Amino acid sequence: MATRSASFDALILRARESPAGDRIVTLLSIEEGLIDAFAFGGPKSKLRSLASPWHSGRAWIYKDQAKGFIKLSDFDLSEGYPAIRSSLAAIGAASLASELIMATDALGGDWVDAYALITGLLRAVDRASQRTEEAQGAQAGQAELDAVASALSLFCLRAVSLTGVMPDPGECAACAGEIGPNGLHCYTRRLGAFLCERCAAAEGDGDALIRLLPGSARWLTKASEMDFSFELNLGLARDALALVKALAFDLAAKAAHGRLKTLSSGLV
Ligand SMILES: [Zn+2]
Repeated sequence: MATRSASFDALILRARESPAGDRIVTLLSIEEGLIDAFAFGGPKSKLRSLASPWHSGRAWIYKDQAKGFIKLSDFDLSEGYPAIRSSLAAIGAASLASELIMATDALGGDWVDAYALITGLLRAVDRASQRTEEAQGAQAGQAELDAVASALSLFCLRAVSLTGVMPDPGECAACAGEIGPNGLHCYTRRLGAFLCERCAAAEGDGDALIRLLPGSARWLTKASEMDFSFELNLGLARDALALVKALAFDLAAKAAHGRLKTLSSGLV
């Protein structure tokens, strides 16, 4: 048989238009990993609107193995994370996470963990945006930005860990000395790793260094404990979180072997 049909639970990571105007969606599933499939139909077709980014549900596909052609024939939506689409910060987080999953080939083929990780992130970001919609006001907006930044930083660090390239925050990459939990933590973009205080002082290129603030070491240790919940009850001051986010993005870009478009889009 040159053709077959299949169905599986999937999350839609990306939708783009082909030159002929058809929608091509990238799906992540536990059973089949990453799949690009055509979703035919005009702009107003039901399938096309169901086949939108960050919708999860049951996907039915039709594979013509001889022609290498995959068609999405139906999609039964189970979770749509609607609040994500109401917030630019949430859209940015979901876009970066999707891009990182695609660029690392679903974290090096770890489909189960990739699915659990990105689903956990989408749930956390959707909840943060939803709370803001309900509460309104500048304070709620800032709380959402903090929650999204924290969840996205955690996502990047855990994704980097799962691909096996996370540096040890307790070891200096230059002298291999131990960095104590209360030591000054420095991250260097040049090496994509941490430095002890002495080696950081000797590092000439100041722009490549990120000097982390107190509390970051504990947060990083907690972040490296692998679970798929993003409700991390371990506050980090806003300026400290911004630096952790910068290092998480740098590691994510390195894991993705190049530029992640979302990082230069201004959305995150
Ligand atoms: Zn050192």
